[in-house]
Amino acid sequence: MFDELSQLTALDAPVGFEEPVLAWMADRLTRSCDRVECDVRGNLYAWQGNEPNAMTIMVTAHADEVGFMVTSVTPAGYLRVTLLGYPTVMVLPGQRVRILTQNGSLHGVFGVKPGHILSGAEARQVPELGQLYVDVGATSAQQAAEWGIEPGTPLVFDGPLTQTATPGRVFGKAVDNRIGCLCLLELARRVNTMPDLVANVVYVVTVEEEIGLRGAAVATAHIRPDIVLALDTVPAGGTPELGAEELPWEIGKGPLLKVRETRGLSTHRPLREMLRRIADQHGIPYQLIVDTAGITDGTAAQQASGEIAAAVLGIPRRYSHSAVELFDLSDAETLVDWLALLLPELTCREPLMRYKCL
Ligand SMILES: [Zn+2]
Repeated sequence: MFDELSQLTALDAPVGFEEPVLAWMADRLTRSCDRVECDVRGNLYAWQGNEPNAMTIMVTAHADEVGFMVTSVTPAGYLRVTLLGYPTVMVLPGQRVRILTQNGSLHGVFGVKPGHILSGAEARQVPELGQLYVDVGATSAQQAAEWGIEPGTPLVFDGPLTQTATPGRVFGKAVDNRIGCLCLLELARRVNTMPDLVANVVYVVTVEEEIGLRGAAVATAHIRPDIVLALDTVPAGGTPELGAEELPWEIGKGPLLKVRETRGLSTHRPLREMLRRIADQHGIPYQLIVDTAGITDGTAAQQASGEIAAAVLGIPRRYSHSAVELFDLSDAETLVDWLALLLPELTCREPLMRYKCL
């Protein structure tokens, strides 16, 4: 998975500018799906099966990454920015970024006051976003404008996907949620070779997740699925500052099954129990989590149309919304194995009912 994830994370697709990832995914999904289409908002849909009486399973992953947007350029050519989504502001000083102009991308860096000039109190403070600026090497606002930089120009974190000395443990920008996109693609490839799948499956690569799960709500209303499986990354514990009481789940210990997430979704209980039974039968490691700080497309999808059984499946990763999100590829591979075992079992709505009326 490393090579394809390297390609996916190298693409720059901040919220509202997801086209490079959507195009890459459309190209790959076309090879294992019956038809691929997109909507005006940007969501990408790839279909397997077209049986009118069969259930529809929607698998989602979001294309967008956190980033920044130019609000103004100072007379001396420094860029002031606002946030696209919620990048971690405390890591920004000294951070490499790319500025995505209409004419191509430019390198830049968040300015940082030299350590030997900072006073004692100042050295311990996290600067406000309004104090920060991006240095793109311009000598004036006019020169920045000539390079194509204007209010509304987006920026992203810079840096390649990097392999650590432990096989499968990698870090880089936009792991959230390119690894979800790659799991979705791998699942489509796997399902394409399954002869006996009863349900229709639609793979949806959504837009604008990082600013409020917006694409997923539109996509779900459009598809009206019976089941939604949302794939996304989740902040992991297991680091010196995040103990087991705060975040008990860790990287390398299997994918995450959310019991619930903040502000809404509870994974549909019969669907959750089905997933757990399959994992137990096949020796699939997983981590059951109650997420009190995160939210995914699953929450938006669950309420967007009809009666939907929704589940959120996660990949744990450290250093959320920074340029160095670190995770273990084995968790993603296990997630695909798990979903490939689940899908053939989703044949009708009856096992999804929470109780029998009579
Ligand atoms: Zn995400």
